[in-house]
Amino acid sequence: MNAHGYAAATAKAKITPFDFERRELGPHDVAFDVAFSGICHSDIHQVNEDWGPSIFPMVPGHEIVGVVTAVGPGVEKFKVGERIGVGTFVDSCRTCEYCLAGNQQYCANGQRATYNDYEPDGTTPTYGGYSDKFVVDENYAVHIADDLDFAGTAPLLCAGITLYSPLQHWGAKAGTRVGIIGLGGLGHMGVKFSHALGAETTVFSHSPDKRDDALRLGADHFVISSELDAMRALRATFDLIISTVSADMDLAPYVELLKVDGALVLVGIPGKPFKLNAGLIVPKRRTIAGSNTGGMPELQEMMDFCGEHHITSDVEVIGADYINEAYERTIASDVKYRFVIDAATF
Ligand code: NAP
Ligand code: ZN
Ligand code: ZN
Repeated sequence: MNAHGYAAATAKAKITPFDFERRELGPHDVAFDVAFSGICHSDIHQVNEDWGPSIFPMVPGHEIVGVVTAVGPGVEKFKVGERIGVGTFVDSCRTCEYCLAGNQQYCANGQRATYNDYEPDGTTPTYGGYSDKFVVDENYAVHIADDLDFAGTAPLLCAGITLYSPLQHWGAKAGTRVGIIGLGGLGHMGVKFSHALGAETTVFSHSPDKRDDALRLGADHFVISSELDAMRALRATFDLIISTVSADMDLAPYVELLKVDGALVLVGIPGKPFKLNAGLIVPKRRTIAGSNTGGMPELQEMMDFCGEHHITSDVEVIGADYINEAYERTIASDVKYRFVIDAATF
């Protein structure tokens, strides 16, 4: 199947038009026309090899929504004409304890990433959502409510689930105090979900001009992380703090904000290691944890939650020729709050 997309030819290269072949429809595959594709900061990290060597040419994009155009003979979950979404992985071993429990994102044998990975032949790169057409196994795609703003649903496939999953896992609810560090693509979804779950929600930001937006999105409080008095006043008061920061940062000021048994959960993945004094964690039995996207059942659960609560991402829809500028603006924390590419422009 011929596909038109946008790719980085080599590490750190500009994103430019790229035509390629997708696999023909297998028995359990669904083909769809991409409608919108979100730009995640992970796309930028991988194009720039912030996390180590990547596979090129790279068609990034793992926040993909579209409309089904064809289904293989064995497909039961989807029909032609339905909305469909694909996130950060497109396959996994299906037999390990994590896959069997629906936690495919922690597959013991490694899930197949939507891009920057290889097809089962071991040589063809997987190509992501910056393209007009997509083919996916029905078990690695989700349904999307028809009345949700379509462009605003694309970021749910990564930014949304990446915050929904730890908020659920660590029990955010009425009576808990949640902090979200960084008001970007992931962070603004965290605010919406934390608020919808009833938790008292605080945004920590290094961008003072985001205060009004944070409160509009559902935050109860907004703290500028460089204001040391404000930070000191909040010591030992949080149950859960989630860091979405993409750049190098000091964790210590946030660890100090955790109550006994409080958890600081990292979802942002800066390239460099963190330094932390054990003396900050031990006395209050604090936890430092990580969380990676969500499994397929939880991805559908989040989509349904968004349908019920009318939650979508705040997006700036762009054409494909704006991707490189969008990357620069994302790195500069100048995104409100997710760039989404209109697939008609691929
Ligand atoms: P984003 O839209 O660029 O948001 C990141 C936010 O971090 C910025 O808006 C900014 O918020 C804050 N920030 C950026 N640079 C900073 C700096 N130098 N100092 C302090 N704060 C800074 O990125 P995103 O798409 O949300 O992704 C965030 C991170 O999560 C990336 O590292 C990405 O790779 C990772 N990620 C992980 C998963 C997972 O499954 N764990 C999934 C998706 C993405 P303020 O302006 O409010 O300070
Ligand atoms: Zn992502
Ligand atoms: Zn597995």
